[in-house]
Amino acid sequence: MNPTQPLLACLLAAQLGAQTSPEALRTASERLRTEAFRTHGAYEDLAWLCDRVGNRLSGSPQLDQAIAWAQARLKAAGLVNVHAEPVLVPHWVRGRESAELLLPTPTRLNILGLGGSVGTPEGGLTADVAVVGSFDELDKLGETVKGKIVLFDVPYTGYGHTVVYRHDGAAKAARYGAVAALVRSVGPVSLDTPHTGAMDYNPAFPKIPTAAVTIEASTQMRRMQQRGERVQMKLEMGAKTLPDAPSANVVAEIRGSEKPEEVIILSGHLDSWDVGQGAQDDGAGTVIAMEAARLIQSLGLKPRRTIRVVLWTNEENGLRGGVAYRDAHRAEFKNLIAAIESDSGSERVRAFGLELLKATPEAKATARASLNAFELVMKPFSVSLRLGHSGADVSPMVREGVPGIGMEHAATHYFDVHHTHADTFDKIEKDDLAHNAAALATFAFALAQSDVRFQ
Ligand SMILES: [Zn+2]
Repeated sequence: MNPTQPLLACLLAAQLGAQTSPEALRTASERLRTEAFRTHGAYEDLAWLCDRVGNRLSGSPQLDQAIAWAQARLKAAGLVNVHAEPVLVPHWVRGRESAELLLPTPTRLNILGLGGSVGTPEGGLTADVAVVGSFDELDKLGETVKGKIVLFDVPYTGYGHTVVYRHDGAAKAARYGAVAALVRSVGPVSLDTPHTGAMDYNPAFPKIPTAAVTIEASTQMRRMQQRGERVQMKLEMGAKTLPDAPSANVVAEIRGSEKPEEVIILSGHLDSWDVGQGAQDDGAGTVIAMEAARLIQSLGLKPRRTIRVVLWTNEENGLRGGVAYRDAHRAEFKNLIAAIESDSGSERVRAFGLELLKATPEAKATARASLNAFELVMKPFSVSLRLGHSGADVSPMVREGVPGIGMEHAATHYFDVHHTHADTFDKIEKDDLAHNAAALATFAFALAQSDVRFQ
């Protein structure tokens, strides 16, 4: 036996608070894991959400249905303070859309209008296409793209790198008089699957319709242009923005037995794009958060601190849920121990990344070191505990100093299907969801039993 082990156990117990020994935590973790794999509650919930509600864009009746469903599920699980906190959200509708290559080879193309885009004039628009590979290339073409459709054919080099073309492409093209902007789908692979997503206009330039084309179509148009062929397209989009719509964040709690005012948030976003089923983005995060709390509750574990589930609205096209929550809960920030978000799909969690945006380097180092207290209990889940990124919905709070924690999932195939018609339930691995829910439940429970503070 290693003679330092009892000493380490003592130190750990001190860091975790006197109430819960490492042994007790390990037992709790094993029970949580066993229960997760016995019931597969997250998987069952996600199947229902995907099959019976479907995709859930802000302003849609499906999102309202999901909000009602989640509250009912959390109430049935015995959580308390289950309620919806109202939020007004943008209400964009896609309408009918189509694209047809007229020259040089007549072809129907699969497209997805980008969220927030305006529509085309009634009957659509027909124009030549100018293919560019970067904003620099567009700048070189300058006013020669006037009256044309600009296609940004930019290879995927990582979501963060490439998404700027989806987000800003229309504004940049409108600056030079383009009549529409297309973007090669922001993803690593395609099975003729366009990827939608959010975009923004620049108020200094006209709003022009904008859509994603598939990787197949985008690279084809580039080849045509390189051969000197005239590329002409007809684009029709019925997209429009309606007045803001009522929506809500869903909130539910397990009240802390000793320090109820100290709160650990477990979260995912309930809204999705209006294609596919929003299974990976972010149905998975939603059911992982729900299930983690349900497991703790169903086993009769009594967390010392409050565990609060928050299911965000409007992550995809406005982040109004995260902003409204920040504004309504500012008084609690000093007792918000961590805001944990799962929003990178359903594959196995690889790390819990702690994000501290207002901490000094010294305070960050101390917070990083305090994560070590949880290493032993998290060991069976093969996750690392480290500094990292939290999540979009918690980011408004994190920017004001609340410790954010992101569940970083493997995401090997996440961006293949994210924001596409292919983000559907069949691609969810049952055991991964149970593993992730148990990992989150264990981490949240250990954090609730401890006196650790990251700020
Ligand atoms: Zn998401």
